[in-house]
Amino acid sequence: ARRPVIAGNWKLNPKSIAEASQLLKLLHANFVNHRTPAQLDVEVVVFPPFPFLLEALLVLQGSGIKVGAQNVALQTSGAYTGEVSAPMVRSIGVDYVMLGHSERRAIFGESDADINKKLHLCLAEPGLGVILCVGETEDEYESKLLASVCDVQIRKGLKGVSISDLSRIIIAYEPVWAIGTGKVATPEQAQVAHTVIRNTLTDMYGYQAADSVRIQYGGSVNPENVDSLMSMPDVDGALVGGASLTADAFTRIVDGAI
Ligand code: 13P
Repeated sequence: ARRPVIAGNWKLNPKSIAEASQLLKLLHANFVNHRTPAQLDVEVVVFPPFPFLLEALLVLQGSGIKVGAQNVALQTSGAYTGEVSAPMVRSIGVDYVMLGHSERRAIFGESDADINKKLHLCLAEPGLGVILCVGETEDEYESKLLASVCDVQIRKGLKGVSISDLSRIIIAYEPVWAIGTGKVATPEQAQVAHTVIRNTLTDMYGYQAADSVRIQYGGSVNPENVDSLMSMPDVDGALVGGASLTADAFTRIVDGAI
């Protein structure tokens, strides 16, 4: 059985350390004061912006909630003004890095090759895990390209990754048309896409390794729809955007995950 994993992608929110700290304290309280069976069984990770990572690590101590970074640089050090590296985030205690989010691909022009390079830099840091995001656009979905787009993004994203490092990687399937739109994929649509992804992983790594990889669904997940999505056999978790900015909504999503 794969351990469910719920992650909160804060994106470029909230506006200040004061607001971030407040959200983190509410999350800590929810997890420490009313610990539900789900909170113990589910792996939970939040991805705040870089300036709030240390605060998140501090405030969330004892809550069981892990902290991840939303991106890392294509380099590890040197003359790259404005960048933040994988070794840097690992050195402060961050457990995960998110790579390949559709916003990074579409708005910041990240290619599969860039994402693959960053992924290898993360794997070079002992103990650092990665959430690799893939997913088709609405046009691609309409053109029945879901399977080929996800297959290519997985193959290029994971190029050169050994079978032993595969256990450090979580895949997030995020159809671009479902992100921030309130237009959630149906559980059946998510299951189809997750099967495509697992089939690609099986082709690359064999059944046993592919079977143990966790695949999250992302795109308009909320406390009301998480249960039906997670009831599908290949949906192992959720990557939550908007609803992760409210402590109670995010906590209810975790509680609804099993
Ligand atoms: P929403 O949950 O706001 O649709 O965002 C999904 C997402 O992009 C998470 O990475």
